[in-house]
Amino acid sequence: MEPGRNRRRALLLDRDGVINHDHGYVSTIERVAFCDGIFELARRAVDYGYLIAIITNQSGIARGYYTESQFHRLSTWMTGVFAGHGVKLAGIFHCPYLPGATLPDYDRDSFWRKPHPGMILEAARRLDLDLPRSLFVGDQPGDMAAAAAAGVGGRVLIGPDPSATTTAANLIIGQLDQLTDRLTPVRGWQVSGWQVSGWQVSGWSEPRTLPGR
Ligand SMILES: [Mg+2]
Repeated sequence: MEPGRNRRRALLLDRDGVINHDHGYVSTIERVAFCDGIFELARRAVDYGYLIAIITNQSGIARGYYTESQFHRLSTWMTGVFAGHGVKLAGIFHCPYLPGATLPDYDRDSFWRKPHPGMILEAARRLDLDLPRSLFVGDQPGDMAAAAAAGVGGRVLIGPDPSATTTAANLIIGQLDQLTDRLTPVRGWQVSGWQVSGWQVSGWSEPRTLPGR
């Protein structure tokens, strides 16, 4: 059997700037403003067989802006909101660490903190993911670097600058519905029209092997 055949594809989502607008260190329900199209994207992905997981740096914890329990409370609420849209979250992975952090307990250069790939690799281990056929959606170059280092095949950057081709992204979109429209249930090619500014991306068709496997 082909390696990875039974692993699950995932739609991996950065949180701030992808799921909710990034006002800077969002830690309470009142400050959450969901991004347009996030639930439609997630629901479409579920319908097409993807697992959905959140992969988020939370240096606000290391900076002492909010606690891990506050983060978990917000995550529980957010899980319920997704469920109300027919989307079961398979996991929420967060990294509270930051080198040089205010709080000594969180002062660490963690392998989990993007642009390192640790969180994504842990998600893959826990959820049995097929990373080369999965998607990561982020709003920072560090998201794309982490996804590339983990071997995620589809790296989607959402941002205002369509010319930002220097990142590890292989698709750059201005709005989430541009990805929703490209999702297809076809095995091995979840996304059609894989182009960045007219440049056909070839990386998607050449799945990489996970480091250490
Ligand atoms: Mg972000």
